[in-house]
Amino acid sequence: GALLKNADGIRRMASLVREFQYEPMVVVISAIGKTTNALEELYRLYILKNNEQLQEKYVQLKQQHIQLVEALQIPAPEKTIHGLEENFRKLWNALNIHYKDWYYGYDQIIPFGEEFSGKIVKAYLSSQGIPVHFEDAHNLIITDSRYTNASVNWEMTEKSIKARILPVLNNRKVVLTQGFVAIDKKGISTTLGREGSDFTAAILAYILEAKEVCIWKDVPGLMNADPRLFPEAVKLPHVSYNEAIELAFYGASVIHPKTIQPLKKKGILLKVCS
Ligand code: ASP
Ligand code: MG
Repeated sequence: GALLKNADGIRRMASLVREFQYEPMVVVISAIGKTTNALEELYRLYILKNNEQLQEKYVQLKQQHIQLVEALQIPAPEKTIHGLEENFRKLWNALNIHYKDWYYGYDQIIPFGEEFSGKIVKAYLSSQGIPVHFEDAHNLIITDSRYTNASVNWEMTEKSIKARILPVLNNRKVVLTQGFVAIDKKGISTTLGREGSDFTAAILAYILEAKEVCIWKDVPGLMNADPRLFPEAVKLPHVSYNEAIELAFYGASVIHPKTIQPLKKKGILLKVCS
């Protein structure tokens, strides 16, 4: 999310992908910048039935995304803009139906952020000549129905990831997918908890037996304290899995707490890249 917050960030991301494009790679993306927070705000306004502000914030979010496509200066942007507008229409419809409970509704609204960023990133990578295949995470990560904080069904997820991702990697294409979002056995959208994209990457890495996971952040790396609160905080060059779990548990927000476990089990290296 932090890396994708503007056109320069997306260009930077594409250059990173290009650097590694000849190795089998899955790119997991989050929503652009603070989009997830903006969607949470839309959902709040929906609950409050504050239609005026809802409409205003919705238009704002849509404008931001369209302006980002324009700033990227890809050839024939109309197709991507059209696709985004379609997604935004779906979001608007989703903000106009009744949900049986708050958690369920949340998981129908918030995943749109990754939908939008997926469209934009796919279009940009393709425009750069990078062979990329977008695979909807709803086809990959299967969970229970604990909306907003779903648990992975590993058996089903392994089957779907292997069936859908391995052939694409064998075809020497870069796989692009959304983090954080998943689906339950009923085919209804679920999410893995805020900042869950890292966990999605860990799930994919575990099942595909990846060599390493790199999470790209806008902070220098893993620190021994929150640098905003403790100016004397220092970067930790190497950390054991157990220390990382402990750090995540005590609030090192750079790592999602569930991320380390699957990596530890298979000895997969986790790099926090700036
Ligand atoms: N976009 C989601 C969030 O902001 C997931 C993530 O960023 O990892 O929580
Ligand atoms: Mg995010």
